[in-house]
Amino acid sequence: MNIIIFGPPGAGKGTQSDFIVKNFNLFKLSTGDLLREEIKKKTPLGLKITSIVNSGSLVSDEIINILIETVISNSKYKNRIIFDGYPRNLSQAKNLNTLLSKYNQKINKVIKLQVSLNVIKKRITGRLTCPKCSKIFNEFFNPPPNNMTCCVGELLKKRDDDNVDVAIKRYETYEKSTEPVLEFYKKMNLVKDLNGEMNIESIQSKISDYLTVIEG
Ligand SMILES: [Zn+2]
Repeated sequence: MNIIIFGPPGAGKGTQSDFIVKNFNLFKLSTGDLLREEIKKKTPLGLKITSIVNSGSLVSDEIINILIETVISNSKYKNRIIFDGYPRNLSQAKNLNTLLSKYNQKINKVIKLQVSLNVIKKRITGRLTCPKCSKIFNEFFNPPPNNMTCCVGELLKKRDDDNVDVAIKRYETYEKSTEPVLEFYKKMNLVKDLNGEMNIESIQSKISDYLTVIEG
């Protein structure tokens, strides 16, 4: 099976896609990884990508499509791809469909992790890390024991790079750009909405249920 996982930044998409990769023996296709790999290999395309990135421009859909096709056409990954962070827009979604049919494949399921902006804000602003043992807590969802301390006498510090404004912006951009993509897959009856505000284990068990049905 080939699946797509959608979810706003901070929804736990990475955790869930890693779980799927491990339990269903899939290959995670992330365009960021593909680009980095190509740059590292210094292929002619890699060098082109390097100059585009260095100039501050965005890599075109055309280049992304070339990279995606190398994976889809590879028999090693046939019918075992999980797309993470792709397709990002309608034209990429349409192109992905064309590419998959070219290699006699299709998307079997689209999993959409639904998390409200309010919860994402709390996940960010409530995050606390123990400076001694690096354990991560959240003052709203997973408070540390003993009045904000974890290891004895160590205060938990909020990460200062957490910026709520950035998160809001990313969330809104995500919603706006993926809406037409989700509509596209809804018309194909492929979208499964999942409450991403449940705990990790509950989400994993739901995902397992969906995907086992496809496999069987
Ligand atoms: Zn600690």
